[in-house]
Amino acid sequence: MYDYDVVFIGSGHACWHAALLLAKAQKKVAFVEEDTVAGTCTNWGCNAKILLDSPFEMVDGLDRYRGIGIDEAPSIDWTALMAYKKKVVTPVHTVLEGMFAQMGMPVFRGHGRLVDAHTVQAGDKRITAEYIVLGTGERPRRLDVPGEELVHDSRDFLDVDVFPKRIVFVGAGIISMEFASIAARMGSEVTVVHRNERVLSMYPARYVSRVVDKMKAQGVTFLLNHELAKVEQIGSDTVVTFTDESTLACDYVLGATGRIANVEDLGLEELGIATSSRGIEVDNHLRTSVPTIFASGDCVDKRIPKLTPTATFESNYIALQILGLSSDPIAYPAIPNLVFTLPRIAQVGVTLAEAEASPERWRIETVDFGKRLLFEAKNEADAEFAFVFSQETGLLEGAAFYGQDAGVWADLAAIVIDRKLTGRDLSQMVFTFPTASQALLSLLTPLLPL
Ligand SMILES: Cc1cc2nc3c(=O)[nH]c(=O)nc-3n(C[C@H](O)[C@H](O)[C@H](O)COP(=O)(O)OP(=O)(O)OC[C@H]3O[C@@H](n4cnc5c(N)ncnc54)[C@H](O)[C@@H]3O)c2cc1C
Repeated sequence: MYDYDVVFIGSGHACWHAALLLAKAQKKVAFVEEDTVAGTCTNWGCNAKILLDSPFEMVDGLDRYRGIGIDEAPSIDWTALMAYKKKVVTPVHTVLEGMFAQMGMPVFRGHGRLVDAHTVQAGDKRITAEYIVLGTGERPRRLDVPGEELVHDSRDFLDVDVFPKRIVFVGAGIISMEFASIAARMGSEVTVVHRNERVLSMYPARYVSRVVDKMKAQGVTFLLNHELAKVEQIGSDTVVTFTDESTLACDYVLGATGRIANVEDLGLEELGIATSSRGIEVDNHLRTSVPTIFASGDCVDKRIPKLTPTATFESNYIALQILGLSSDPIAYPAIPNLVFTLPRIAQVGVTLAEAEASPERWRIETVDFGKRLLFEAKNEADAEFAFVFSQETGLLEGAAFYGQDAGVWADLAAIVIDRKLTGRDLSQMVFTFPTASQALLSLLTPLLPL
């Protein structure tokens, strides 16, 4: 009756994980994609970033041994690194496209738009499906100032062949701070401009201030409470003017003031599907107000972090719903999230700010891991764990980490939180030693109830 069982608008993580599960279950699926197949993470997000960041992380690590075996950390040849990124990351989407083709999942090229509850206009073709999944993602917010066309976004930055000598980052969120950490290491003249005082406002102030202090020591300037008024090209300088009329000349401006959901020209209004400033509104089964139309990933109006693993989680969830293998409302586990600054900051579960605001519910305990176990912490003396325990049960309900291995710690803490593990449970586990994961296990075990 329909052309397909399921049609996806978009082909990023929000879509293709579900498509794989559905295709394996013999469902007929198709994608509609207007840009490069596989979306942001694969082409100009996580993959490109981690490839480019990794040598910086290593050099940062070597720096901690300066004078005790290492004379000088090596410098990084950005142009060579970028050439490698283009060689390795650029073809990934073709691998995925090949896999989709092999599994009989066609990609219709062009803009996807809903026609009705079962029909999608895909470029100049019209296709029908029993279910439709919207996975249209987000795009960078453009600055609303004269000269905004001179401002680059994260996609441009992850493709830049010659590293700019003077660079201004507008915004002090995750993308800005991650890229500014790299730029500081490159020895560029770096300025981070932010409209208020809270850098990385979603993350614990005690760790953000350590990253900021380190970046300042590397020569980064933070212009807080500064608003852009305009951007101009004057000769070879890009000149940024602020609302207080002060100016700054640079070679490159990166605008990273947030991302906005792609909800325009999707036919949502005509079908009565509501959106907010955060994205498409869904119920607790990720269904829009039209029961045959789901939404998944970054384009969804949600409070949880918009990340690849959350898009993947939602995608798999939708597949199970469509296959009739689950009818439960979506229940997110504790979601660890990591900022790839140098060093990293990670958190999971109840935040330190939430715990500080409700001391009757939560108790925070910090462990100066770096000082206690300097050699295990790879000489990172200020690496630290902060645990949030329930006052009622004593169990772990949140954690924040500062240090190069913060991602590993946050993942392990997520398991402890989700499974409500006790000290006795942890005492039954054996990890490799001496490692970051074992350090967490041995330091957390005595802090939990038996
Ligand atoms: C610089 C950067 C770094 C990041 N780093 C990390 C990280 O380290 N870890 C992490 O977990 N997350 C990271 N993220 C976030 C992560 O990339 C996203 O959460 C993830 O890609 C969301 O997947 P998605 O499928 O929802 O959206 P997307 O991957 O954006 O896919 C949406 C797709 O839909 C297509 N599309 C949109 N509208 C239409 C339409 N009408 N018709 C047809 N096609 C359409 C788009 O072209 C796109 O291909 C990063 C993001 C950026 C920008």
